[in-house]
Amino acid sequence: MSVLSRAAFRRRFYPDATAREWNDWRWQLKRRISDLEELQRIFKLSDDERKAVADLNRLPLGITPYYASLLDLEDPNHPLRKTKIPTTAEFILSPGEYNDPLGEEQHRVAPGLVHTYPDKVLFLATDFCATFCRYCMRSRLVGQGTYVPNLAMWEQALEYIREHTEVRDVLVSGGDPLIMSDERIEWLLSRIRAIPHVELLRLGTKVPTVLPQRVTPALCRMLKKSSSPVHQPSPDSPR
Ligand code: SF4
Repeated sequence: MSVLSRAAFRRRFYPDATAREWNDWRWQLKRRISDLEELQRIFKLSDDERKAVADLNRLPLGITPYYASLLDLEDPNHPLRKTKIPTTAEFILSPGEYNDPLGEEQHRVAPGLVHTYPDKVLFLATDFCATFCRYCMRSRLVGQGTYVPNLAMWEQALEYIREHTEVRDVLVSGGDPLIMSDERIEWLLSRIRAIPHVELLRLGTKVPTVLPQRVTPALCRMLKKSSSPVHQPSPDSPR
């Protein structure tokens, strides 16, 4: 087991980063580990991991320095490391495995809006995540550049929700919606909140675990204002 303390990890691999930079979510995103060279600078990779990163053809690589500091530097079997560093097993498609395992595409009713259950919709606000998870159920679209939502697409999705009064529960997800700017999140949440028949508004995010620096006082104030519970599926947390 070779997991350094956060401070030791920063000193060793990011010696030029100030504490202020390290604690800045935008710096964390800018310095994401996203290629083989950077990954090898930090981790001792197995042959299989190296081959998988070199041959990646679907879900890209992306790990925030903060989250990298929680992973074992040497052991490819470290459970958290396996969720973020690819292996070639990822390329095997077994019988019965689907590109869209949740069957979302067949229930897509507007750009980025999935309506599977009568009273509930899934709002795919972005295709971007701070850290890509190797088990992602939405790897067909996150980080691919094939689904890039814009305001016009959001407006179409909002119009659909306004027109469907049976919808009382909106889950805003992606990608990770908390990766967007405060202004953009507030814009979206306020419009959903303004729809009278929407009773539940939730955010699906991994940010508290993979990029806790994003949870700023300003973000908390804004979320409190919109009373949106934050839902974190599979936290991938070491503790
Ligand atoms: S944060 Fe969620 S959407 Fe993004 S890669 Fe991980 S599981 Fe997929």
